[in-house]
Amino acid sequence: MQNGRREKNLPQLRRNEFKLMHLNRKQLIAVSFILIINICLLTGAPALAGIEYTGYGANKTVSGSLHLLNINGEKLILDTGSFFAVDGSLKPEQPDDICKDVMAVFLSHAHSDHTGRLLELVKMGYDGPIYCSEPTAAILPVMLEMAARYGDFGRETFYYTRRNYNYEKVVHRYDCKWGKRIKDSNKRFIHISRDKLEPMGFSLCEKCMELEVKQVMDKVKTIPLNQKFKVTSSLKAEFFNTPHIPGSVCIKITEIDDVGNAGQTVIYSGDLGSGVSPFLKDQQYINKGDYLLVEGTYGTDVFVHQGDERRKFRQFLGLMVREDKRVIIPAFVLDRTQQVLYEIKRGIEDGGNTGRCHC
Ligand SMILES: [Zn+2]
Ligand SMILES: [Zn+2]
Repeated sequence: MQNGRREKNLPQLRRNEFKLMHLNRKQLIAVSFILIINICLLTGAPALAGIEYTGYGANKTVSGSLHLLNINGEKLILDTGSFFAVDGSLKPEQPDDICKDVMAVFLSHAHSDHTGRLLELVKMGYDGPIYCSEPTAAILPVMLEMAARYGDFGRETFYYTRRNYNYEKVVHRYDCKWGKRIKDSNKRFIHISRDKLEPMGFSLCEKCMELEVKQVMDKVKTIPLNQKFKVTSSLKAEFFNTPHIPGSVCIKITEIDDVGNAGQTVIYSGDLGSGVSPFLKDQQYINKGDYLLVEGTYGTDVFVHQGDERRKFRQFLGLMVREDKRVIIPAFVLDRTQQVLYEIKRGIEDGGNTGRCHC
């Protein structure tokens, strides 16, 4: 897809049974190259129509997933991701009224490249439900705090007290309980994008951040796996487990008619897991669908996994410890870091009472 806003009226399709459950890993990864897969084999079923897709991220980059679906006039947003620093220039132009008439927001999982723009959307006026799994809702406040601290919401106005002589000045965005104590005559204002605060020696007030996070969390509704729930009078949805991080789901959205009969179906993969994590439950497969919207991050026809990679990792750490060397391990904050810590703990335990990683 081209970078930038892209609207696409999906072509007329015919309904077909989509058997994701019968794809092997290699086939599944091969299909991941394509963001939208139209399943169209002739079955004689009625033609599908009325679905419009607009992408506001995750084009030519792995971050910033935000997908707007308009299903016969019912608007939904799938994921609300922020962009990693190096990808910031790839953020497409986003209209101020992106939330207008949006009936629901769905989160596939808690990674910030799928949730980091929630604060921004709520600031822009989104007031509807945010559907996600229970583990995602449990992790979300931590991720939102990061987004609140480091996100770029354009220039905003912050204030602080001129009587603060500490090196780090706390700035407020709202009249939080601490901000209220500052007399008007002592207030100083700055107009700045919040990601520039820290480099200038400012830090955003914890209470103001809590207020922002609460605004989002008040809209969150948790949904169990494999339970169909009504989104609007003409749409229902269901979550299926995918082994990416705790709480990650695929989302199936189905049209329903006046008497509850199912119509066309859109399946959104979120991020697909590799299935090799020792912590996560297996992929749940969906055996029918009309449209598939799927991640392409690791799209390749070669997937190599040797079962003893974790043991080799522990052995390497043990070797470095014995040689008194330092190891720097870059890792994603959520899930990957915890997996690294888990392997270090295993290594220490296997090393006996020495407290060292002997593996
Ligand atoms: Zn992810
Ligand atoms: Zn404050």
